[in-house]
Amino acid sequence: MTPTKQAPLYEGKAKKVYATKDSQSYIVSYKDDATAFNGLKKDTIKKKGELNNRITNLLMQMLHKHAIPTHFIQELSPTDSLVKKLTMFPLEVIVRNFAAGSITKRLGIKEGEKFERPILEFCYKNDALGDPMINTDHILALKLAQAEEIDAISSYALQINTLLSDYFASMGILLVDFKLEFGKDEEGKIILGDEISPDTCRFWDAQTKQKLDKDRFREDLGDVSEAYEIVLQKILAKESK
Ligand code: ADP
Ligand code: UDP
Repeated sequence: MTPTKQAPLYEGKAKKVYATKDSQSYIVSYKDDATAFNGLKKDTIKKKGELNNRITNLLMQMLHKHAIPTHFIQELSPTDSLVKKLTMFPLEVIVRNFAAGSITKRLGIKEGEKFERPILEFCYKNDALGDPMINTDHILALKLAQAEEIDAISSYALQINTLLSDYFASMGILLVDFKLEFGKDEEGKIILGDEISPDTCRFWDAQTKQKLDKDRFREDLGDVSEAYEIVLQKILAKESK
């Protein structure tokens, strides 16, 4: 029987989360809403929900094949997926391979500069505070995660970076940076949750450096869903080989 949405539990900026009849799973429903700059810039982008749902599910299945535990269970419709219910860490885990976005302003680095080794950052997921960047001591002091959990999350994030960077490189796309969110299941196992999409990653065409991600919205470059579609089509072409 196909799982169906029960009570709505949470509406975020990009997705809605619903209970299901199974106490261990949720349905996430991807919206066409786009926000940037901590909610100051808002719009809707036609088909964005579908594109992000499909891209996330394909990427999570690829990661699963490489022994990364993910929350993905089943795609239910173009915009909806069944996922494992997690207790999320209130952390955004960011990995950067090339300079873009906030780090260029914060540290005065030119956009596009390649880092010799990936940079791992944590932000405290707290809209009222504007998701401030924090370090492991802050995470421990605020009891957001335990030391071993931070180690496991960091190790997964760097493994995921290698897997995704190689995967996208093989289709002519540079993985500039991205954000992950992790949670714990009932047994305390750490699992990758949330999404991996052009909303949460920066993707550049390796040849032309054309931006194929949410920066098209942030920077008013136009053709937002067209860029997300290019990413989806390249993944589908790779998967059909
Ligand atoms: P935001 O909360 O940042 O506005 P979204 O609109 O993407 O983000 O909302 C999705 C919410 O669901 C996020 O708070 C995210 O942490 C949470 N979430 C993602 N995956 C799971 C999961 N498997 N179990 C529980 N919560 C999840
Ligand atoms: N990111 C995200 N959600 C956030 C903040 C950042 O998905 O709330 C992603 C963003 O898309 C980029 C990476 O994390 O791929 C690094 O973002 P950055 O710190 O440069 O912030 P931004 O430029 O979005 O302010």
